[in-house]
Amino acid sequence: MKKVKYHNVKFLVRSAEDISVYFAFEKEAKIFNRWSTMEDYFFKKHPKIKSLKQTQDRKTKKEFIERYVKDYYKSHKELIGKRMKEAETRWKKVEQKFFYLADKLFQKYPWPKGDYRAFVTIWNIFPRDISKKTFQLPYKGRIFKKVEAIIVHEMLHFLFYDYLFKYFPKYKKSQYSYAVWVLSEAFNEVIMAEPKWRKIFSLQLQPYPETVIVRKKIRELRKNKKTVKEILEELLPFVIQKYTRPPSK
Ligand SMILES: [Zn+2]
Repeated sequence: MKKVKYHNVKFLVRSAEDISVYFAFEKEAKIFNRWSTMEDYFFKKHPKIKSLKQTQDRKTKKEFIERYVKDYYKSHKELIGKRMKEAETRWKKVEQKFFYLADKLFQKYPWPKGDYRAFVTIWNIFPRDISKKTFQLPYKGRIFKKVEAIIVHEMLHFLFYDYLFKYFPKYKKSQYSYAVWVLSEAFNEVIMAEPKWRKIFSLQLQPYPETVIVRKKIRELRKNKKTVKEILEELLPFVIQKYTRPPSK
């Protein structure tokens, strides 16, 4: 196998990242009135911070969360450190295979520049930041067994979004973000289920129910050996039409 130029992913333990993740989701929960997601992502595993729902004073809330997260990182330091090292070792074992396949899939399209970083998270949600090239990784539970799959998934997103916005820049507009998200998830799910890709990781991630129709269409196109560009050309109009949300008032 030819060596492929690739990005080194740094594996980092930073409690400050988790503090920001919490507040980013809380802000969204407030805007969209989605407290059930806060329950799933944060409170179920960390019932101590649930009392914050009633706290209105921002400063008190911020201090509480900061203290809680820092203390948690301190009291779980050993396991968190050990698991992040393990994640890095496991990734190192498969990264060459991944970059080789990604290079083939995107026909040597160059990787977007950036400082690729994986941060551990104690929360039950693993967000990513496409522009910053960062993503969150679990350190325990059943999901930790899928750590390679999570990294492959996020790395594919970075490449996919960059590629899509380069060749189809008009879809950068925020009104299309949900449609593009559906397409990007469906794309990952189909690609990662292909036999060659499955050799990188043993366990699949759960597909999103919202992507089922698009997944089917991508699978058809992949059977006919369509390139990523051809897939996008063919599917973007459909996906944009079907999944663009009307602007919120
Ligand atoms: Zn995703």
